[in-house]
Amino acid sequence: MPDRYDIFIVGGGINGCGIARDAAGRGYSVCLCEMNDLASGTSSLSTKLVHGGLRYLEYFEFHLVREALIEREKLWSIAPHVIWPLRFVLPHHRGLRPAWLLRLGLFIYDHMGGRKLLPATRTLDLTRDLVGQPLKPGCRRGFEYSDCWVDDARLVVLNARDASARGADIRTRTRVVSVRAEGQAWRIDLEDTGTGKREQVRARLVVNAAGPWVDAVLKDVFARNRPANVRLVQGSHIVVKRLYDHDRCYIFQNADKRIIFAIPYEADYTLIGTTDRDYAADPGAAAISDEEIDYLIASANEYFRAPLARDDIVWSYSGVRPLFDDGATAAQQATRDYVVKTEADAAAPPLINIFGGKITTYRRLAETVMRRVEDHFGRRTPAWTASAPLPGGDFAATGAAELRARLRAGHPYLPDDLAARLVRHYGTESLELLGDAASLQDLGRHFGHGLYAREVAWLMAREWAADAEDVAWRRTKLGLKLSAEEMTELAAWMQARRPQGAAAAAK
Ligand code: FAD
Repeated sequence: MPDRYDIFIVGGGINGCGIARDAAGRGYSVCLCEMNDLASGTSSLSTKLVHGGLRYLEYFEFHLVREALIEREKLWSIAPHVIWPLRFVLPHHRGLRPAWLLRLGLFIYDHMGGRKLLPATRTLDLTRDLVGQPLKPGCRRGFEYSDCWVDDARLVVLNARDASARGADIRTRTRVVSVRAEGQAWRIDLEDTGTGKREQVRARLVVNAAGPWVDAVLKDVFARNRPANVRLVQGSHIVVKRLYDHDRCYIFQNADKRIIFAIPYEADYTLIGTTDRDYAADPGAAAISDEEIDYLIASANEYFRAPLARDDIVWSYSGVRPLFDDGATAAQQATRDYVVKTEADAAAPPLINIFGGKITTYRRLAETVMRRVEDHFGRRTPAWTASAPLPGGDFAATGAAELRARLRAGHPYLPDDLAARLVRHYGTESLELLGDAASLQDLGRHFGHGLYAREVAWLMAREWAADAEDVAWRRTKLGLKLSAEEMTELAAWMQARRPQGAAAAAK
């Protein structure tokens, strides 16, 4: 491994990993350090939509909405295992936005960017349509439109995998402690968060992709004293047992002008969120408040026939959006667009800071960063990430069912739900993961709910999974089902294999 790189990236969220992939594919030497697990920050805690963001039209964010809409089908085509289309049902609520305004917004949404495969908007009679059944009788009319779903944490890992396959050095559980200019290069001090071991590397350019920690990195790592550039906005979700039997989502308008989603989640659940409130503490410590729980339950109860209560919540999570501080007064009005700022003067090597952004636009953000990088290095290489599949994503966007059938044909012992999950997680690589296994016993120890040793070993060797939390909450969402005892067994098994897994992952 070199100790001097072209590009050093702070942060292994979607933006850092997307930039690492793009840069490595253009032939730059890249090192990315993440202080915890990949996607352990905001990038595993989103609403998991690849979407234009219908409501951003109200804030005239046309550039953002158009760019995001165009990205939907591009991302779906390069990662059809972790991204797929969803239909959203928007009930008209008398007394809130008028029907003509919703229709106009959806017309713009349908026509402003790149929709080729996703179906168009249609009007619904909720008194007759199946999707009206779970709703209160007052919901008579509605609209149905398209966006996409994404397994956010897996998208991050797939970008890191591809970056690594193209030569990037990806290090997890490695904190960037200090960055100082040394002539025309940066000297970077790293700390292994497990062992405390320190190391120094050098790079010609640094990208600060620390998400909600971007200001903290500027202050503590670069020792710069400057006012905050990001506004931290907390968003929380609750997960409840599946509330209805069809595969569509709901987008509900609230009286305070916010919207919340109710989304089919991990086959057996419904995900409800999100809230939007200013946040001022450590982003890693965000947790849902009682007030947010009440808000989400009240919003759902405004629309669903069957009332929800606190006891119905099986899991909740909270993430912190790093929004660029554009001076908006309300959290939900602050821009969701990203801002890329380069600091370069003759006395120091360049530093590129990233503020804000969405999962949906990470690939475009990486291209913007690469233009800045290439300005500095005096090179121009073609953009390439829009059509190159991510690992396991080399099959047709609409081909998941066919791939599942192929997997079942080669591995007839697989239960339906496991075959479906493996295809959704690993795409075409699920064939490689299963290898020559001819029975469930061949997959090794069973930790519960279809998680076998062979998959865990794959995650340790290929995907930087280091502990049970990484496997249960980011590489999969089996944490929703695994009991405390099953988690303990998984943790012990991983602990016993760690040196082997770490060595394999480092290859
Ligand atoms: P992060 O994912 O937070 O990554 C930054 C990383 O930097 C962290 O992992 C952190 O550990 C690491 N780091 C920090 N300091 C250091 C250091 N000193 N050394 C090493 N590593 C360090 N977007 C969408 O497109 N669709 C959605 O549906 C959506 N819903 C959202 C819902 C919520 C509630 C929230 C909060 C956001 C949502 N977003 C959505 C936005 C999206 O999730 C974020 O914009 C995106 O994940 C930010 O990614 P990032 O890589 O910039 O930051």
